[in-house]
Parts: sequence; structure tokens; C-alpha cells
Amino acid sequence: MTKFADIVVDISHEKLDRTFQYRIPERLKDQIRQGSVVQIPFGRGNRMTKGYVLSVTDTPKCELCRIKDVQELLTDAELSGEDRLVALAAWMRETYGSTMIQALRTVLPVKQKVKPKEKKSVRLLLDGKQTEERLAFYRQKNQKARLRLLEALAREPEIPYEFITEKLHVSSATVKAMEEQGILTCERVTVYRNPLEQKGTKGLKVQLNERQAAIVQDICGSWEDERKRVFLIHGVTGSGKTEVYMELIDAAIRRGKQAIVLIPEIALTYQTVMRFYRRFGGRISIIHSRLSAGERYDQFLRAKRGDIDIMIGPRSALFTPFPNLGIIIMDEEHEDSYQSELSPRYHAREAAVKRAELENAKVVLGSATPSLEAYSRALAGEYTLYTLEKRACGSRMPAPVIVDMREEIRRGNRSIISKPLEKAIGERLNRGQQVMLFLNRRGYSGFLSCRMCGHVIMCPHCDVSLSLHRNQRMVCHYCGHQEPRPMRCPKCGSEYISAFGIGTQQVQEMVEKQFPQATVLRMDMDTTRSKDGHEKILSAFANQEADILVGTQMIVKGHDFPNVTLVGILAADLSLYAEDYRAAERTFQLLTQAAGRAGRGREPGEALIQTYDPEHYCIRMAAAQDYAGFYEEEMSYRMVVGYPPARKMLSIHGACREEEHLQTAMEYLKKFLLKIYRTDPKNIIGPAYESIARIQEMYRMALYVKADGAEELTAVKNRLEQYIEANEGYQKVNIQFDMNS
Ligand code: ADP
Ligand code: ZN
Ligand code: ZN
Repeated sequence: MTKFADIVVDISHEKLDRTFQYRIPERLKDQIRQGSVVQIPFGRGNRMTKGYVLSVTDTPKCELCRIKDVQELLTDAELSGEDRLVALAAWMRETYGSTMIQALRTVLPVKQKVKPKEKKSVRLLLDGKQTEERLAFYRQKNQKARLRLLEALAREPEIPYEFITEKLHVSSATVKAMEEQGILTCERVTVYRNPLEQKGTKGLKVQLNERQAAIVQDICGSWEDERKRVFLIHGVTGSGKTEVYMELIDAAIRRGKQAIVLIPEIALTYQTVMRFYRRFGGRISIIHSRLSAGERYDQFLRAKRGDIDIMIGPRSALFTPFPNLGIIIMDEEHEDSYQSELSPRYHAREAAVKRAELENAKVVLGSATPSLEAYSRALAGEYTLYTLEKRACGSRMPAPVIVDMREEIRRGNRSIISKPLEKAIGERLNRGQQVMLFLNRRGYSGFLSCRMCGHVIMCPHCDVSLSLHRNQRMVCHYCGHQEPRPMRCPKCGSEYISAFGIGTQQVQEMVEKQFPQATVLRMDMDTTRSKDGHEKILSAFANQEADILVGTQMIVKGHDFPNVTLVGILAADLSLYAEDYRAAERTFQLLTQAAGRAGRGREPGEALIQTYDPEHYCIRMAAAQDYAGFYEEEMSYRMVVGYPPARKMLSIHGACREEEHLQTAMEYLKKFLLKIYRTDPKNIIGPAYESIARIQEMYRMALYVKADGAEELTAVKNRLEQYIEANEGYQKVNIQFDMNS
């Protein structure tokens, strides 16, 4: 029987967002499948063009005589895994919905014409003894930048030039001065050395402890076992997960395979990256969001050519075209930056698992506070679960102490800093130790809460907080419910009911007033806007240039500060009432991670959690460091309200310039939904305005559909896509799908 292939021709033109059908010649019948990359004659002139096969069918779409033949199948050597990425794109399109071109562009590096940049690297010229002398000299002279650079070179004698200027923050003038003194040399071409050569010469590997070794052995024992695909390491901060990752990467490389390491952008700091550099040297490449499209393309090309074995980066590093991918590591698996906000709105965890299936690789997820999705799958046996309960270096996890802020108000203290926290800060300053103050502002969007009893004004239908709008109305962003702003607390009658609105700047001012002897650094959106602002503040604090660091959730991740012995968490419950069913989960994660920042050095650490809601299970479990307890409570809540991962949810996001048109369009979608999908109407929520109802002149609304199976929802999504395509009314509306399972 003759087979036909639906082929996307050119992914650089949005106009060509459609498939063209070609006949598969007899000789290629058994080889062409979804994902294949082929040569086809295209257009009137039958110019030979590259095409991507999205599907293979038995049914021709038009008259047979008008269908051309596929010319050639590009071979594996020419592609080096590109065909598997195309298959991944097809899966993403099917699962999350998007145009074909969007999906293909997400996974394939799109070539853009850029002038290749000359790469420079810096090499150390001194021997061991000379280096020691120089280091001592710089310490004595307090030449911080030179010291930093030489220390780095002492560990890794050759370092890419950009790494020095961008990550070490050493200016090119300093590098030049040191070059003139004969300490180092700048070379035009980086020579990538084989990492195996330099091993053994340095003691860069730690001896894994028993638990770590057991995990590595177990995962390595299942290289050939296709039933074991995904592994979840639940390990407290500092339990040695990163050491386990590195050992696994090493094992993969020894098998002739390559590794992808996904790290949330915010944790992609000098410290983390340097650890990988020290162990694996030049066989690593790093991508981050500041790279231009051209630079990213270059890095992907190096991976394709086999110049590197390890790619480290955020979400998009997942699509590195390695010829023989062995393992995908996903650190801080619970982070929401793994969820793409652009169409296709894929989740990197799911996409990683899919890619691993397609390429027979392994996925290792790691977190101190796993997402409910991952943990429930691990408990169900879908993933293999490992636990690391203790810190690797022997230091104890700080046991957080809860401070009841209602008590503080009753005692007449209206400051955001409680008395116990004030006392603890004073003690640290006297001892010359450092303090981190974390202001939880995540998901903050102007909800109302009672300062006396902690009550938060919630939606009567949805279990989410109502947001205060400028017109003084309270609005639910899930179901559209509205009500006037109350003047008294509905629970206790107090008049002290107000929108939360404290910022990091106010906290900084307050702390500076209370502790005039202390140097205070602040890290938030405002102070990190400049290039590398984030990194600069963190390095300054790590170099002990300040006593106290005040910041938002940005300070929770990444850097290790051995001299920090106190973490104060201000307004711990602020994020509990974000208008999102994941609010408690995110709060628990933040509190646990924040507390984990304390006591990572020799001195024991302490964490204080200030809250107006000390009875909330999320706060109690975070203070008790009881992940399993939290999971149980939270999971039973999700079961009751039917949110993922207890059930699956499809979100349909609509955006349009005309508000009324959008409302009508979304209402019609709901009507169509109810017609084709015979489900309890309670399973369909909305349409309601999104939490930000208008962005750049576009109004935004969403519909949510809950179900027990993801397949059901994919089928619903496919029907909706057809409906949208067939109806002119949707031309002005941008519709995107989101799948949570
Ligand atoms: P995590 O990734 O879980 O936060 P890390 O791998 O960063 O933990 O380990 C925390 C610290 O403990 C690091 O300084 C690391 O070098 C050290 N460490 C990890 N494993 C061991 C070990 N087996 N022996 C000695 N030190 C270790
Ligand atoms: Zn009250
Ligand atoms: Zn509601």
C-alpha cells in the first residue's frame, strides 16, 4: 500500500505553517516515519528542499497525480539526531498545542547569519610555587579581582575569556595588566582538552558516601533497563545531589554518551558552573538567556559536532542536539521556570522524559522539595525514588522556629521585624556572622488580609484569594466572581484589614535604622536590572562585603554562603494566598529552600519564620522540615478540589485586542466544549479574566477543563483546535493551550 508523508517545508517562514503531502517511494517505505528529515522537490521549479515529516498516513489528501515523491532520506550522519528532535516537536505540538513551526523552532536550532565570534581563552603561565606566592601577595595587598582570577586559574589553568569578564567580574584591563606581568596569556583559539587527561592530576572528586554511591550504582545498573527511565532524588539542600549528578555524567561519558544538565536560570551562578568546569574542563558548554540566538546556535553546533559532552543551561538546553544523548539531569526539578510561557507551553520535565524515551536516555530529577507531580509519580512507581536525608558535609539542617506575628501586634510591635528576629540579628552582628532576610512576595497581587486574625478574603467558589482591583472591587481570577471590598474583617470584625504592600526597599531602610553599624545589601528586581547585577550582589555578599542581605525569592537559590548563620523569613504566608492552586506548594518550597540557606558552613544555622498564620499546615510542615507530611496534606486537598496532579487540567488561554469579542469567543468555546465533551459542567471552569487581565493592549481570558485522563484532554484540545481553525471569529483571537498533569 502506498504511504504518504505530511511534511513541513521551511521553518523560517511563518507563512508556510502548513504541511505538504508527498508520496513515499517504495524503496523508502520502511525508513520514513514521524521525525524523518527528507529532501523534497518544492514549488514550481522543484527546487530541492529540506523537509520535516510530521506524520505518515495511508490516505492521500488530493488527487494522486498532483502528489510529488519524496526524493531522499537524509542519513543519520548528516543529521546527528535532528530527526529525533523533530519527533519531539511533533509530540509537543500534539500535547500542548501550537503551530507546527513554533514547535519545530523550539526544538531545532534555527540558523541565523551571524559573523562567527572569535573565541579567546586565558591560560596560567606560573607554576605551583609561583602561583602560591602571587596569591599571598594579592591577599596582602587586598587586590580582590586579581586574587579571584588567580584563584580560579590555580584550579583550572585555562578559562574562557568571557567567563572571566562575565562570571568572575574581572575587567579586561586587569587581565591585560596581569598578562603584561607574565602571569597569564590570552590565546585566540581555545583548545578543548580531553577531560580524561586532566583527571587524577587533581583531587577534584569527592569520595561519595554510602547513600550517594548506592544511588549512582543503582542508576548505572539500569542503563540497559528500558523500564527504568526516570529517577527522582529527594535530598535536602547540601545533601550531595550535585556530586551524584557529576558521577552519573562521568559514567555516561565513559559509555560514549553525552549529558544535558538543566538548572534554573537563577541558580546558574558562577559557583555552580565552576564546580562542573573544575571536574570536566573544556568538554562543557553553557547556555543562558543572555546569549544571542547566534551564540546559542554556535553552542548547539559544537554539541552536534561532538566538540563537547555536557551542556548546562536552563529549559532550552534540553534541545541540545547531541548525537548520542545518555542522560538528562534536572536540578531543582520543582522550579516553575521549567514551564515555558511561550507556545508550545511545554514543561521541561515532561519534554525531557519524552526525549529520553525517543533517544533511550535516562532522566534524573533532583530537589529538596519535589513538585507534587514528580513525587506522586515516584510514589506510584512510575519514577524510581531515592532519598538523601542528611547534609553530606555533616552540618545539621537548621530547625526553623515560627514567630507568630499576631502576638507581636498584640504586644504593640507593628514593625515587620519581630522582637525575636531583632534579637537574633543583633547576636549575629556581634559575632561577625552574616544574615539573610527573605521577603516573600511571590504571587503577590494585592489581596486583602486581616492584621488581627490573619483571615484572607477568599473566593466563595474557588479556594483562591480575591484580588483587590483599583475600582475597589474584589475579583476572582478563576471563576470571575466579584464582590465589594469589605471594610471590616468578616471573621473577627477588626478594622485592621488591608492590602499587603511592603517592599524590600522599606525592609532595607528599617534594618539600616535599627542596626546602624551593619552594611545592608538589597537584591530585588530593581537592583538586579543591570547586566549581571544579580551575580554582582551575590558575589559581594559571598565575599563578606556586607552583613545583611535583604531580598525577594531571588536570594533563595544558587550561592552557598558559609558565613550565613541566620535566615529571617518575613511574611512567610504572603504567598499562601496567591490566586493559584499551587500557592501552598510554592510557599512550602520557598520556606524550605530559604531555611536551607542557613548554616552551610561550620557554624550551625538558625531560621526564623514570621507568619500571621502559624497553624497553616504549610507553615507547620515547613518548620518541621516534613516534606512527606506536607505532601500528604496537600495531595488530599488537591484530591478534594480536583486539581493536578490529582486530576489533569487543560487551560485554554485567549488573548484579543477587543474585549467584547474575546468574551464572546470564549463563551462560544465553552458552549462547543459542553457539546462535544459530555462531562459534568463542574469540570469546566470559566471563562474568567487571567490574573493580569490586559497585557500590551491585549485582553486575556482563560477556560479550564478538568478530567481524569490526559488522553481525554488531548482529544478535547484537538477538537477545539479544529473548531477554532474553522471559525472566522477566532482569527482575531490568539488561543494557546496549557496542559497540567
Ligand atoms: P546539593 O546539590 O544536594 O545541594 P552538593 O552536591 O552541592 O549538595 O553538596 C553540598 C556540599 O557537600 C558541597 O560542598 C559538596 O562538595 C560536599 N559534598 C557532597 N558530597 C560529599 C561527600 N561524599 N564527601 C564530602 N563532601 C561532599
Ligand atoms: Zn480578622
Ligand atoms: Zn472564584
